[in-house]
Amino acid sequence: MTAPKSYYFDSNATTSVAPEVVQAMLPYLTEQWGNPSSPYRLGKTLVGPIERARESVAALIGADSAEITFTSCGTESINTAITSCLYTQPEKRHIVTTAVEHSATKNCCAALEERGYEVTYLPVNRDGSLDLALFEQSLRADTAVVSIMWANNETGVLFPIAKIAAICRQRGIFIHTDAVQTPGKLKIDVNALGVDLLSLSAHKLHGPKGVGLLYVRKGTPFQALIIGGHQEEGNRGGTENVPYIAAFARAAELARAVTDESKQKLAALRDKLEAEIFAKIPNSTRNGAQSPRLPNTTSIAFAGVEAEALLMLLDQLNIYASSGSACTTGSVAPSHVLTAMGLNAAEARSTIRFSLDYETTEADVAYLMSHLPGVVAELRAAASPRALARALKARSVAVAV
Ligand code: PLP
Repeated sequence: MTAPKSYYFDSNATTSVAPEVVQAMLPYLTEQWGNPSSPYRLGKTLVGPIERARESVAALIGADSAEITFTSCGTESINTAITSCLYTQPEKRHIVTTAVEHSATKNCCAALEERGYEVTYLPVNRDGSLDLALFEQSLRADTAVVSIMWANNETGVLFPIAKIAAICRQRGIFIHTDAVQTPGKLKIDVNALGVDLLSLSAHKLHGPKGVGLLYVRKGTPFQALIIGGHQEEGNRGGTENVPYIAAFARAAELARAVTDESKQKLAALRDKLEAEIFAKIPNSTRNGAQSPRLPNTTSIAFAGVEAEALLMLLDQLNIYASSGSACTTGSVAPSHVLTAMGLNAAEARSTIRFSLDYETTEADVAYLMSHLPGVVAELRAAASPRALARALKARSVAVAV
């Protein structure tokens, strides 16, 4: 029996592994499984493929391959970037970030606060944008690093990283950006951006989960977070994950090959979905309405609806979306990103993120829109928790009343 078709609108959470990417990693799981640090051929012949992979991922972001360190994920890259800037400048104990970062940055900064570092969390306005004057005012003589995401995973809102980096450069402060959501959607050029450090993760660009990279501009002082062997020039201890590194390289080539036309088509499909939502579902509003944003993401608040219940009903229809970042799904707290944008708890809890991909078709959007208005109406009609439970039970979704 074949599995029913999935209607996947959650590509900011993760993406499918592309068939070309699977092919690229297979040889390193079967014949070429040695340890690259070994002195004999089974091992040392793997150094070439790792270096070629480094060149591929460097090309995706306009970097030199010597500026790339492979890591285990975006979270590790971000933690390494921030702590490296702190540990190489022990006299500086202040970090500037925003109130809407992914938990990889947010919780790393919170842990550093507990260790005595000071963190400024810049606020955003209702559209999710930063006030650059306020940003400039937040910089201090003892600011070791500014860590600000390029594209928000929940809303798709973009921050003006090139402008932020220019200000940091004038002030002699290192700037790291979490660019995890951008490959294949935005053109990435570390020199045009002017950042000192940048983090990526392969699973957001049709690579496997569990491999990331950290870009560190030449000349930037660096201290490893993962301390062990001499791998990655001493920048990250641990035997290299050759299959995943090769996979990441292939995924980077695919992301680099995405044309401007494909990006425009993606944005047009997302816009079509939004237009249909607004036409067919009253009292739905877009979060981050006025800000520049990724071409694939839309964050919509459906007034009076519990997003978690909506997601459960959509799941029954093989439609997958998210009520915020995947990392917070399952927790009852409203999204910190949406509350930082000024939404109240009920508005934040009524928000669904739809994130499309190049694999998303017009037919997928049509299927979603053939069900979404009805499901939203059904939940709105279920005025009491008991009625809501009945509606969910009728679709065999287990809930605690
Ligand atoms: N930063 C952003 C913006 C993300 O969306 C994610 C993943 O959801 C991460 C960082 C963390 O990446 P990883 O899952 O590879 O640790």
